Amino acid sequence: MTNWLRRLREAFAPAPRIGDADWNALLARSALFDRLGADERVALRALCERFLARKTFSAAGGHVLNDAECLAIAALACLPVLHLGFDHLAGWREVIVYPGEFRVRREHHDEHSGVVTEGDDELIGEAWEHGPVILSWADVATDLERPFDGFNVVAHEIAHKLDALDGAMNGTPRLPPSIARRDWVEAMQSAYDALLRAVERGRETAIDPYAAESADEYFAVVSELHFSDPATLAREAPAVAALLARFYGARAPETSVAASRSDR
Ligand SMILES: [Zn+2]
Repeated sequence: MTNWLRRLREAFAPAPRIGDADWNALLARSALFDRLGADERVALRALCERFLARKTFSAAGGHVLNDAECLAIAALACLPVLHLGFDHLAGWREVIVYPGEFRVRREHHDEHSGVVTEGDDELIGEAWEHGPVILSWADVATDLERPFDGFNVVAHEIAHKLDALDGAMNGTPRLPPSIARRDWVEAMQSAYDALLRAVERGRETAIDPYAAESADEYFAVVSELHFSDPATLAREAPAVAALLARFYGARAPETSVAASRSDR
């Protein structure tokens, strides 16, 4: 089927309904959903129905995916766009799920020495700029069981997808009109620099030192904290915590998303 025909069919195809029993089982499975108001739960359910209709799920590494797992992943992926809108999940289709950590071959190019090294990495999640989101189910399940321990792999990978939506993975996602790009860059840069200094001095940091890898990893890690341990984020990086509360809580009607691109 051609792409335009598929898009046309999707646009008019009704999203699959999530049955009450399945939905209630998901809500009962994790305290993550206890914080949502009644309206937010209704909105999340509608987003999940669209997610399940628009995205494809495939299992890898011998994993056997079931409907409850797909629904849980859909809910975790839609939470970050609960207020931003479903259009913020545009530009990619595929979710690949491994049973646990998965191994990828990586090339690393050292800018100073010019040396390229290659090696295997064990990952729990990965988001390709224009490709799939890849997840370890074991880690998603842990996030559902312990939603406030400071880690949330789906929130992390969706943050990368939000970051990529404006064409550059640089730690600055497509912003709603209520947030000025300059305010975002200033707050993120100074918090990132402070973390980088602390890591370089060998100090223990409450924010995962992996965030010091790059501006895009910093945005993904603090997004994880926003959803899984906002108190730590507010203590360690109050300006960033306030900004993320505005970003993830921002209401951006889908019709205004295109207009906000001029804010880049
Ligand atoms: Zn990352």
